[in-house]
Amino acid sequence: MTQTDSVDCTIIGGGPAGLYAAFYAGMRDLTVRIIENKSSLGGKLHFYPEKTIWDIGGQTPISGMKAMEQMISQAKTFEPEIILDQKITEVNKLGDNRFEALSSTGKAYFSKALIIATGGGIFNPKRLPNVDCTPYEHTNVHYTIKRTKDFKNKRVAIVGGGNSAIDWANELEGNVSDLYVIHRSDSFRAHESQLRKLRESKATIYGHTVISELIPDISGQRIHALKLRHSKTDKETVVPIDDVIINIGFETEDNFHQDKKMALPLVDNYYIKGTSQAQTAVDGLYAIGDILDYSGKVRLISGAFNDGINAVNQVRDYCYPKEEDKIVRSSLHEGLQQREV
Ligand SMILES: Cc1cc2nc3c(=O)[nH]c(=O)nc-3n(C[C@H](O)[C@H](O)[C@H](O)COP(=O)(O)OP(=O)(O)OC[C@H]3O[C@@H](n4cnc5c(N)ncnc54)[C@H](O)[C@@H]3O)c2cc1C
Repeated sequence: MTQTDSVDCTIIGGGPAGLYAAFYAGMRDLTVRIIENKSSLGGKLHFYPEKTIWDIGGQTPISGMKAMEQMISQAKTFEPEIILDQKITEVNKLGDNRFEALSSTGKAYFSKALIIATGGGIFNPKRLPNVDCTPYEHTNVHYTIKRTKDFKNKRVAIVGGGNSAIDWANELEGNVSDLYVIHRSDSFRAHESQLRKLRESKATIYGHTVISELIPDISGQRIHALKLRHSKTDKETVVPIDDVIINIGFETEDNFHQDKKMALPLVDNYYIKGTSQAQTAVDGLYAIGDILDYSGKVRLISGAFNDGINAVNQVRDYCYPKEEDKIVRSSLHEGLQQREV
């Protein structure tokens, strides 16, 4: 097992809550480390990079991508240690009161206090059950869409019949050269207005249809065409495509905080029951953002920011208990005021 230096606070999760808490921890002169399971920071904002966010206080309408970039940049203000691609699988409070966070790759991270900012947890996209897409996941099979412009003038197949699939189909329609929507039944679980919009568009909708074969190109690296099978008639159709987007939902992995040995009271067997001050049942262990539950909890970015400030103030008191209470304002923060913006 590899051990790392101890910091004041470890933050698990690099979504809006963890990012803002890292920034604010810097304002409060705490040493901090963010550990994120994915290869990039940003949390759930990766699910809606091209949607416009209207409800972040003081922020004019902004795309998910831009908001994410700004949050990451703000989080780096005080140069926290950022660790990516590490899934935390276990957290223990040690005999010397430090916290130990253990990762799936056998690393151990130590800190005086710990903030859980793991949001909705770790999602993995559901894969198609009857064909193996994994060889093409690094080329033209996608589970999320970062930029619609990547599909400009392409022949695109979207698999799925839920809100998200139909929403994406409508976003892409008009941008792509051909759009095929493939769904295993003919009842779509999407908003009626979105479905109507799609049906009135030029998209070809294949209901009661599954992909029965992925036909690769000559290099074997990319899918060149899809063989589709109508599940009622068994009729087969071959559709040439450039990209396939699979949007049939996500599976959530169990997360470390659900382990009984952590003794954290949970709501709905997932959310951490805590206080509006971000405290949990364990001293020195805090929770913020979507993972936290208390009466009046707001599961929005602004709510995550608010939890972040509360948690960091608690961490400061926990790590340095004899200090006087201090209200910190960035406009009066000496270090920040000397910086050029
Ligand atoms: C489609 C959609 C649209 C939305 N629109 C808005 C909006 O317009 N306005 C708004 O305010 N809010 C919106 N939200 C809600 C907002 O995105 C969430 O409230 C916010 O992302 C919560 O932030 P978080 O940091 O608590 O959690 P998350 O964003 O879920 O981030 C948690 C992070 O923790 C990581 N993680 C989890 N477990 C581990 C582990 N064991 N080890 C290491 N890392 C781990 C995850 O990989 C993830 O990066 C929207 C949400 C969705 C899904």
